[in-house]
Amino acid sequence: MEPTQEPMVPEGARAPAMTAPPRSRQSLPPKGACWYCDKPVDSVRRFCGKECADAFDEEAEFTR
Ligand SMILES: [Zn+2]
Repeated sequence: MEPTQEPMVPEGARAPAMTAPPRSRQSLPPKGACWYCDKPVDSVRRFCGKECADAFDEEAEFTR
């Protein structure tokens, strides 16, 4: 009788635990309003200005 073996776990079956994708403004969909201050902007833009974009980036850094 053979000794019982550890069940083989195929590589990739185990999901890596800590892989939250970085929240970058580049991946945000334009929603017709500034993502930071909610001011209405061009439908292709995410922020009303560079200041809001920068502020949003900074906040994303802190909440990571
Ligand atoms: Zn704004």
